[in-house]
Amino acid sequence: VPTLSLRGVSKRFPTGTTALTGVDLDVTPGEFVSVVGPSGCGKSTLLRLASGLDGVTGGEIDVAATTTSYVFQDATLLEWRSALKNVELAGELRGVPRSERRAAAQAALDLVGLTGFEKQHPRQLSGGMRMRVSIARALVAEPDLALFDEPFGALDEITRLRMQTELQRLFELKRFAGLFITHSVSEAVYLSTRVVVMSGRPGRIVDEVEVPWAYPR
Ligand code: ADP
Ligand code: ADP
Repeated sequence: VPTLSLRGVSKRFPTGTTALTGVDLDVTPGEFVSVVGPSGCGKSTLLRLASGLDGVTGGEIDVAATTTSYVFQDATLLEWRSALKNVELAGELRGVPRSERRAAAQAALDLVGLTGFEKQHPRQLSGGMRMRVSIARALVAEPDLALFDEPFGALDEITRLRMQTELQRLFELKRFAGLFITHSVSEAVYLSTRVVVMSGRPGRIVDEVEVPWAYPR
């Protein structure tokens, strides 16, 4: 059963703009699906609908996930909390005991290469490091579904290459169902098990390509 399923989804904003029309898309467990397409074709709208942040105006979306994580482009961290405390937040909200959530946050920071930076506050960290904290925070929740909206768009190229490798390693380990928005075709092909191409206004899916070499099945 797919973790995320969209059937004939359309979205018309109150302004009159129709951003999406007739979108059918399934993401099954262990699939990492990238969505590529030009600016304005509705990629972000698609992700916001999948996350439940906004509602469809046509069709339906089914989510068979207990935990969904969402990573934005501009790593939205809480400035008054340390890196560790930012990653601990999900556990706090779920009532996980302190020692347990601390250990999990520590392990997640270690996975993204931030051991030694636990006590730093976001403003003391570089853009790449903030993004890594944001990814650690998303993954510590052990999500069944992870949604990424151009998370590396604002990074310099070297940091981006490092983060792509990092994310690939994390996906190999955790095998969540992933939906990843990007306007970089090479990034999509490098990271995904399947690339979905969107185009037009309103946006629709115009092509889909499996990436057979991406990960061991
Ligand atoms: P992309 O992520 O592919 O660049 P978006 O999903 O951001 O595309 O936007 C798709 C279309 O929907 C654009 O025409 C955009 O102007 C419009 N749009 C996005 N969000 C809103 C909104 N909240 N209200 C009205 N129009 C919107
Ligand atoms: P990134 O590649 O994550 O953007 P930078 O290129 O800015 O990081 O920094 C390279 C290295 O410098 C980091 O991996 C880290 O070891 C160190 N560094 C960066 N910012 C800080 C900081 N605020 N405090 C301590 N060390 C830092």
